[in-house]
Amino acid sequence: MYRLLKQDGKAKRGEFHTVHGVIQTPVFMNVGTAAAIKGAVSTEDLNAIGTQVELSNTYHLHVRPGDDVVYKMGGLHKFMVWDKPILTDSGGFQVFSLAGLRKIKEEGVYFHSHIDGRKIFMGPEQSMQIQSHLASTIAMAFDECPSSVAERKYVEDSVARTTRWLLRCKEEMARLNSLPETINPHQMLFGINQGAIFEDIRIGHAKEIAALDLDGYAIGGLAVGESHEEMYRILDATVPHLPVDKPTYLMGVGTPENILEGVDRGVDFFDCVYPTRNGRHGHVYTNHGKLNLFNAKYELDARPLEEGCQCPACRRYSRAYIRHLLKAKEMLGMRLCVLHNLYFYNTMMTEIRDAIEAGRYQEYKAGKIARMRAGE
Ligand SMILES: [Zn+2]
Repeated sequence: MYRLLKQDGKAKRGEFHTVHGVIQTPVFMNVGTAAAIKGAVSTEDLNAIGTQVELSNTYHLHVRPGDDVVYKMGGLHKFMVWDKPILTDSGGFQVFSLAGLRKIKEEGVYFHSHIDGRKIFMGPEQSMQIQSHLASTIAMAFDECPSSVAERKYVEDSVARTTRWLLRCKEEMARLNSLPETINPHQMLFGINQGAIFEDIRIGHAKEIAALDLDGYAIGGLAVGESHEEMYRILDATVPHLPVDKPTYLMGVGTPENILEGVDRGVDFFDCVYPTRNGRHGHVYTNHGKLNLFNAKYELDARPLEEGCQCPACRRYSRAYIRHLLKAKEMLGMRLCVLHNLYFYNTMMTEIRDAIEAGRYQEYKAGKIARMRAGE
């Protein structure tokens, strides 16, 4: 259940009540694709850096270790030892981007596993069954994510099929939630808006899915190659047609600046691999722009990654030491950079929520972007 606490312009400050606790929005979900945050980050660490929601991947967990294994181990929460909310994506995006040789039919998608090449079928019912096995807090509907450069006719047909699939997802989730053996019978379902970069298709689809009274609504198929300006244009057009009293989730986005702009357009939930992936490569986010720790100028730099940062890396270690660890390929180097980056994102979300509550979101956003752009 979503409670809209305050609006500042279009920016929303809300609370999402779930069976695994309350999510304060806007929120950045920390991505743990295969039930782990890459960079040797544990769920204990997530608690220490202010993570509210962890995101895991249906396709990856279905392929390995298998959702039946997770189910037999009592569901994802028990398996990875995390008692706060978990969102699982539907597997659709990975089926369309990772898997080899796929065939899309009305019933679903036939494809080959990227791990061992074995043939797999996934449709709306299978995706819901896998996510029910994983027992996440929030399940995502199974959709097709058409390319941002796909032709209009293809996008129209694809979006119509995604709507039919959404109805099947809703029905199947209701059935699964009614079974006695279901681990989380309160699992919630978010629908996904598609339509590539065609505003009218996006709006039509948003209206259709908004009528289904789902627990939340995502905007998919953005940040897949189109420009930032195009993404903001689509958000400007689409978000007003999604219910304001339900959470809005912009999938796979993005940079700190993208998030600040998304919040400004009414988005509540975000997720992205940038803070973890960049951290593993020694790129760290600060309020004065991104640093590349491999740069020689940090060799004798005794300062923390960011002065004043309260993350586990900055409270103890110097840039010089972390740079050495990265260069020596010591896992601790990656781990410290990932912890700092996730802490940076999580802390930015707290600042965002405070700014909306205080009615000074525009001022906060402009100041934050200006400082990050100005650099060191
Ligand atoms: Zn830090």
